[in-house]
Amino acid sequence: MEKYIVTLDEGTTSARTLITNKKGKIISVAQSEFPQYFPKDGWVEHDANQIWNTQRSTITTALNKANIEGKQISAIGITNQRETAVIWNRETGVPIYNAIVWQDTRTAKWCESMKQEEVDMVKKKTGLIINPYFSATKVKWILDNVEGARELAKEGKLMFGTINTWLIYRLTGGEVFVTDHTNAQRTLMYNIHTNDWDDELLKLFDIPRSILPEIKSCSEEYGITYAGLINKQDLTQIPICSSIGDQQSALFGQLCVNDGESKITYGTGCFILMNTGEKRVMSSHGLLTTVAVAYNGKITYALEGSVMVAGSAIQWLRDNLRIVYNAVETEWYAGQVTDDRRIYVVPSFTGLGSPYWDAYSRGGIFGLDRGTKREHIVRATLEAIAYQANDVVRAMQKDIKAPLKILKVDGGASNNKFLMQFQADISQSKVVKPVNVETTAMGAAYLAGLSIGYWKDVEEIKKNYVEDFVLSPTIDEKKAAWLNKGWSTAVERTFSWLKDIE
Ligand code: ADP
Repeated sequence: MEKYIVTLDEGTTSARTLITNKKGKIISVAQSEFPQYFPKDGWVEHDANQIWNTQRSTITTALNKANIEGKQISAIGITNQRETAVIWNRETGVPIYNAIVWQDTRTAKWCESMKQEEVDMVKKKTGLIINPYFSATKVKWILDNVEGARELAKEGKLMFGTINTWLIYRLTGGEVFVTDHTNAQRTLMYNIHTNDWDDELLKLFDIPRSILPEIKSCSEEYGITYAGLINKQDLTQIPICSSIGDQQSALFGQLCVNDGESKITYGTGCFILMNTGEKRVMSSHGLLTTVAVAYNGKITYALEGSVMVAGSAIQWLRDNLRIVYNAVETEWYAGQVTDDRRIYVVPSFTGLGSPYWDAYSRGGIFGLDRGTKREHIVRATLEAIAYQANDVVRAMQKDIKAPLKILKVDGGASNNKFLMQFQADISQSKVVKPVNVETTAMGAAYLAGLSIGYWKDVEEIKKNYVEDFVLSPTIDEKKAAWLNKGWSTAVERTFSWLKDIE
């Protein structure tokens, strides 16, 4: 009887269940979207019960699709949208407020009011920055604004979790209350030097320690699922054996397990992570220090940069400018113009993320002349995705003082060969894409499988990594610098736009 690993991939807009075999091949996928709530400008919420119900339904569907029974599942792994915060009642298991999503900016004013020494303290201890993006200020908001929350917390009756913690709690029938180091670190309450919750940070955010889960590694058995999870007849209880944040899971899924190995995920936004081994590299160039994985008795770290608008710039071409019908044909359009016109699109529609962190920047198109055509704009938009990723790559190179020779890529837009070749050119690096681009799901699957000996070690897993393509730079360093000069100048012209036009 063949055995499988199940991954729960809980994203920002949908929940998915993927079933993987020993060769690392995905044999079944079920996906279902859940509602997004925007109660006020800048607020983004999810209903934690809807997340749970959606996730649970995809487990049953994925098993049914492949005709697999519970006893064929060796372990469950979990990967999730990070930072999103949910608080529930310890006695009833019922959330006291909707989950506040990572994109939610309701706590921006509070974050801006922090004193410089507090900002410095937080950066030093967490490797992150004070920003509404991370969980801590969301937790504080719930405690301060939901009636009776502070009293319940005082009585020890509340539990806080990121979505991995919530799913494990529900999967085990309310028995297990844990998180892992990658998710814990993104809360802004975790000290990367002690690898534990930090009292000084908790005091700053006014959060009682009693609401926090226990922190465990990313690859161990946390508990078993309640009988009846699959259906009323199949009462198999399955061990839950991994938990890891989505970007870190993609890094592991790309098998970037050694110091200096990096991956770029091109989705709606673009996330670049580089493994720095057991070193905690504190960036001087606008990047975040993050826990890469806690596995095999070791905690390793990564540098991380986020680009806010990447694939969504292609959606903008399609839905707003309406100059393409679909994302795929952008590749064809870009290939239609080979002249040296230097047109630059800066898609800072929501401000700029790493390494600039300028919330007041807004987008622009530069270098237009009488001969500029639609094809140029399409090409420049694709190039902008690569330029932005390259800004992060360059910041990483400055932080570690070494070149990034290989970039492993995944995500929807990594299917675009023009974009990938331009990335290789502008970054002067090799670009490697695996056949299996479900790297986020694979990271959690591998960590779950490794913990129970389904796979012996990473070396065995490496045999599953099949390359789809490898691209090398086709232009020299001088040309890349010349192109990049135009980009840097264009980006600078968009800085602080909203402030300047006040
Ligand atoms: P997410 O997980 O963030 O939803 P995906 O990894 O599914 O994202 O990628 C979807 C994004 O990639 C969309 O924004 C889409 O515009 C973009 N995309 C998909 N295919 C291509 C392509 N061939 N060329 C350029 N962009 C693409």
